[in-house]
Order: sequence, then structure tokens, then C-alpha cells
Amino acid sequence: MQSAAHAAGLGLVLIGPPGVGKGTQAAQLREEFGLAHIATGDLLRDHRARGTDLGCRAAPYMSDGRLVPDDLVVAMVRERIHENVRFLLDGFPRTLDQAHALADVLLLEDRRLTAVVLIEAPDDVVVERIAGRKEGRDDDDAATVRRRLEVFHTSTAPVIAHYETLGLLHRIDAARPIGEVYADAERLLRGLDGSRSRVSITAP
Ligand code: ADP
Repeated sequence: MQSAAHAAGLGLVLIGPPGVGKGTQAAQLREEFGLAHIATGDLLRDHRARGTDLGCRAAPYMSDGRLVPDDLVVAMVRERIHENVRFLLDGFPRTLDQAHALADVLLLEDRRLTAVVLIEAPDDVVVERIAGRKEGRDDDDAATVRRRLEVFHTSTAPVIAHYETLGLLHRIDAARPIGEVYADAERLLRGLDGSRSRVSITAP
């Protein structure tokens, strides 16, 4: 059962370039704030590993560092949002079309986003971090990393501008040690979780 402190809705989007450490931050925030971590990259990799129809269709895009078609990704996200009033989206939305699709999903559920958190760092910092990863993903080779960064700058930059216009965007400087970045993120979420003004969930 959820504790009273974690009973209210909290809808968050985490945005950041590949290699910035989103996954690490998200895993800790999920524990601390009782959030469902909806990471589209992880969900897609899981589908691919299980060889589902969705996974097979997504695989060629993923290994090239290109975006998987919206219809596949949006359906996956819709299902998870429907099941969780407290969620942290990670890696979605990555395009303006996906941002609009997310708005439609939330509207149908009579819910709203609480905030969008951008963890940012310069390209040379993230490239270095990816090169230093021990587990090494199949899309971590230099050419694919460049493609993923390019996609971030072309497709995801308009998403950031969109949320900034809506007054939902909060920026965190990630070119610092993990603990400092997390301290900022935690402080931010604590403030958001306390203020229920932007959160609206359907009455049971
Ligand atoms: P990163 O942010 O480090 O590039 P992710 O794990 O978030 O890695 O995503 C890995 C790959 O999965 C992407 O390069 C892309 O092919 C696919 N993917 C993940 N999220 C989305 C999305 N929202 N839309 C389209 N493709 C996605």
C-alpha cells in the first residue's frame, strides 16, 4: 500500500542528452519518491531481448541510434501512465509529436504534468562518460553516440523549448559529481511534491 505522503499524483518528465546520467538519477528518485520509472529505452531493450513483435520492429532503429517510430513508443507509454499516478518519464517525449501525444494521453486520464526536469551537460562531457561506461551498450560506439547526440539536439531541443514556454521546465547542471546533481534533483522534487497546485488526478 502507498503511504499517505506518496498517495497523491506526481507526473514528471526527465530530459537529458545520452550519457548524462539520467538513468542513475532516475533510479534514486524512484526509490525516494515512490515513482514508477517509465524509461522508454529500457522498455524497448526489454522488448528486443524478449523478441516481441514491438522489439523486433524497434531493433534496427535502436542499433543505429535513430528514433523508433512514435506509434510504437506512445502505445507503450500510454499503458504505463494509465497504471501509475506517480511516474517519472525518462527518454520520453523526445520529439514535439511525442510531447503532444503525451498531452493527449494525460488529458484522457484527466491528469497533468507536474514538471519537466532537464539535466544538462556539454557534449564533450557526455561523450567522455559514455566512453568510460563499463557495461558498454551495443549503441555506445562513437558513430552511434554522435547520432544519438545529433537526434537530441535536433529533435529534443524543440521539446525543451515547448516545456519552457509552458513554464514547466527546471534545469539542473549535470556536469558535476553524481551526488551534487542528485541533491539538486531531490530538493526540486521535494518542493514539487509538496505543492499540489499543478497536480490533478481523477477522484477514485
Ligand atoms: P540514450 O538517452 O542514452 O540515447 P535510451 O536508453 O533512452 O538512451 O534510448 C536508447 C534508444 O532507444 C534510442 O537511441 C532510440 O533508438 C530508442 N528510444 C528510446 N526512447 C525513445 C523515444 N521516446 N522515441 C523513439 N525512440 C526511442
